[in-house]
Amino acid sequence: MSKKHQGHTARKRFGQNFLHDPYIISAIIDAINPQADENLVEIGPGLGALTEPVCEHVNKLTVVELDRDLAARLRTHPFISSKLTIIEADAMKFDFASLTDSEHPLRVFGNLPYNISTPLLFHLFQFAGVISDMHFMLQKEVVKRMAASPGSKDYGRLSVMTQYYCQVLPVLEVPPGAFKPAPKVDSAVVRLLPYQDKPVPVNDPGKLNQVCAQAFNQRRKTIRNSLKTLLNEEQISSLGLNPDARAETLSLSDFAALANLLDHTARG
Ligand code: SAH
Repeated sequence: MSKKHQGHTARKRFGQNFLHDPYIISAIIDAINPQADENLVEIGPGLGALTEPVCEHVNKLTVVELDRDLAARLRTHPFISSKLTIIEADAMKFDFASLTDSEHPLRVFGNLPYNISTPLLFHLFQFAGVISDMHFMLQKEVVKRMAASPGSKDYGRLSVMTQYYCQVLPVLEVPPGAFKPAPKVDSAVVRLLPYQDKPVPVNDPGKLNQVCAQAFNQRRKTIRNSLKTLLNEEQISSLGLNPDARAETLSLSDFAALANLLDHTARG
């Protein structure tokens, strides 16, 4: 079967799965609810499945697209090119803060390339302070992990880090047939609302990430064992945490306490 869609051959290395189901597309546009003067940014506009209907509602839209052929198509698009600011760049390296102005926080959305979704999310979390909301199509599994609570098998570093930065609201599940070419996995749309005030204080989010990475890397071990190169048993106990606990039983505030203790220890 041809991988050609609207005259474009989908590039696997860019995670290209183009949306074509009108019902799903309109459900996503409804969820985003774009308004005329907002500062919207789309990651990976591709052939414009979301870009075109969003442009019906707004005066301007910034898009970040890595594929030069797709960026070129958008530049000459008959109906929407006049509204678009096209940034031909890697979204993982792009400084999203450069798009903000004081009146209009960013509203970010996109059907993300699944092969880079986790590092791209971590990159975006750095800009949480200037983003009012995000709507992303992701692998369903990734959305489950973002929204997971302690005790669940899906709970891990992505859950803790996402929930430190954002409120996580799953919006809609999407079957493979909604895309061309169809991906091998189920998909889902998630809404992320960055917190103005973080739910727990963390001195250095890098330390939170480090503690989570180390604890969940060996998720079957006790935190006494998995964290021993960072914190000793007495230090863990001093926070009121059981050193025999496993990572998946700890809450965001438990991880925050561990990260702040590590930060404090590192500063001497
Ligand atoms: N939004 C479109 C396309 C989704 S496919 C639709 O729903 O139909 C993912 C899109 O992300 C493609 O256009 C791909 O070229 C683009 N992309 C892949 N890696 C990227 C990166 N690092 N930065 C920006 N865009 C990227």
